[in-house]
Amino acid sequence: MSKNILIVDDSTIMRKMLVKVFEGAGHTVVGMASSGAESIELYKELNPDLVTMDITMRGMDGLTAAREIIAIDSNARVLILSNLDEDKYRDEVDRIGAIGLANKHNPDHILELVGE
Ligand SMILES: [Mg+2]
Repeated sequence: MSKNILIVDDSTIMRKMLVKVFEGAGHTVVGMASSGAESIELYKELNPDLVTMDITMRGMDGLTAAREIIAIDSNARVLILSNLDEDKYRDEVDRIGAIGLANKHNPDHILELVGE
């Protein structure tokens, strides 16, 4: 089933790339945020099926925003997207209850974690 997705990333290019990946796979991008704080507001407003969350953003980082979203909605599905150094975040990703961690530049892995 196609999913309604909220994309969170402070890079315009990355947001555009992710829109292509998700729409190409039949999902719907219902919103985009460029900061952690904005992502929390949009999550409450849009109630998406899934959030993809960048880690490094100015102000509130993505792991903090993910933690807050999961605190607001214990059923929230948040997929953390990292740039390079994936493994150093893995423990924290598990600890906060995100559904997983994928490299931004690996669309196949991202779509696998998003699910059908
Ligand atoms: Mg970033």
